[in-house]
Amino acid sequence: KMNKQTEMSDSAERKPHAVLLPFPIQGHINPLFKLAKLLHLRGFHITFVHTEYNHKRLLKSRGPNALNGLSDFHFETIPDGLPTTDDDADVTQDVGLLCKAVRENLLTPFCDLLARLNRSATPVTCLVSDLIMTFAIEAAQELSLPFVLFSTSGSGFLLSILHFGTLFDKGLIPLKDESYLTNGYLDTKVDCIPGMKNFRLKDLPAFIRITDPNNFMVEFLIEVADNVHRASAILLNTFDELESDALNALSSMFPSVYAVGPVTSLLHQSPPSPLDSLGSNLWKEDAECLEWLESKEAKSVVYVNFGSIAVMSPEKILELAWGLANSKRPFLWIIRPDLVIGGSEILSPEFVNEISDRGLIASWSPQEEVLNHPSIGAFLTHCGWNSTVESICAGVPLLCWPFYADQPTNCRYICSELGIGIEIDTNVKRKEVEKVVNELIVGEKGKEMRQKAMELKKKAENNTRLGGGSYVNLEKVIGEVLLKQN
Ligand code: UDP
Repeated sequence: KMNKQTEMSDSAERKPHAVLLPFPIQGHINPLFKLAKLLHLRGFHITFVHTEYNHKRLLKSRGPNALNGLSDFHFETIPDGLPTTDDDADVTQDVGLLCKAVRENLLTPFCDLLARLNRSATPVTCLVSDLIMTFAIEAAQELSLPFVLFSTSGSGFLLSILHFGTLFDKGLIPLKDESYLTNGYLDTKVDCIPGMKNFRLKDLPAFIRITDPNNFMVEFLIEVADNVHRASAILLNTFDELESDALNALSSMFPSVYAVGPVTSLLHQSPPSPLDSLGSNLWKEDAECLEWLESKEAKSVVYVNFGSIAVMSPEKILELAWGLANSKRPFLWIIRPDLVIGGSEILSPEFVNEISDRGLIASWSPQEEVLNHPSIGAFLTHCGWNSTVESICAGVPLLCWPFYADQPTNCRYICSELGIGIEIDTNVKRKEVEKVVNELIVGEKGKEMRQKAMELKKKAENNTRLGGGSYVNLEKVIGEVLLKQN
């Protein structure tokens, strides 16, 4: 009898153990955290790795129990390698510095962590790493573990960085000098990326807007791209109909590409779990947002949010502010404490007075709940991939104001390929803001785009329910890669 019991508890302990390593910023943590929950629901023991810096912030934003997890879903921390500051400001770290720091400093503590976990009662079965942490493959190889990359961005981003080398070879980058940023050169059509045939240089990830051939971020991303083929599989937070050309092009380059998104929709259609209340927001969510939306009419509100990294000049904030005010439409505007260069106290009492009956300004929102609220009519966004996908999952059309990184690429998909949004000129003027807000909330264009967004929402749902494309892909990755012994 004893033996049988021991056997049973042994097998209970020997769940497959997936270690997940996100790139430590909000837009990468959120989808990887959802993937972790999905694997947990499918019987995996999970270790989710945060940096010490983010761990501290999570405890602050979500309370001391935020990271308690479960016995088979737990958190570990490693240092990000950046100098520690003693103030505990909730500021976004510099992404370039963070890339440098993690590449140089993370591998050793991460290997130590993996070795320690591997000696535990539940040895590690597989490693799921953020696409831009490809260096972690060294850690997986040391222990002969399957190594899976998860791209928190779209197929277009991955396809683009895989062709950065080609852009150099063709002489398209670096730019000859700064004047090429504004002289029309960026309108050049790009015909050397199969799968992205309607893209111009300005639609590619903004990292290519360089004059220095040794630019760090471009070198870093080329290194990432060079490592991609070493992964056992590549997962993307996207689905077939969203960017099928790019996805097909990727599949023809790599045998194991799996669209498993939107992960938020997969999770939404999953059975309840004790982990449901466990969130990953580094800022404290303002609950007032949802209450306030209750008092508004259906599809009337513009939701304005620029994600976790973008920063704006006070001049642009003012143009946007008056554009929103003059549109006379209700709006919910998230102004992160570090959004405005030089401080956020720039909205005049005159402005606050003008909008008091129809505008709410908050510092961080429960975004997905907001987007799914019936009062939301449009999303003015910086086009981060998560924001894009979350808006699609809510059937909400977009006003696009891309800043950096993959945002111009995502904007191109939204406005030209999918037809669910309008782009705002980067040199934003209040008159234009007023015009596009009204076009989207009450105009004909808005109606059409909302209709298309609703169709895409349905496709996202179909892909992520039992038997749907992304659902099946996740099952395949688990069976064919994550649970496969090397
Ligand atoms: N987010 C949120 N509340 C906010 C702002 C952002 O919950 O007020 C979440 C949003 O839902 C998304 C992520 O933060 O999951 C931002 O990721 P995205 O890729 O859109 O942009 P990034 O922050 O990486 O630029």
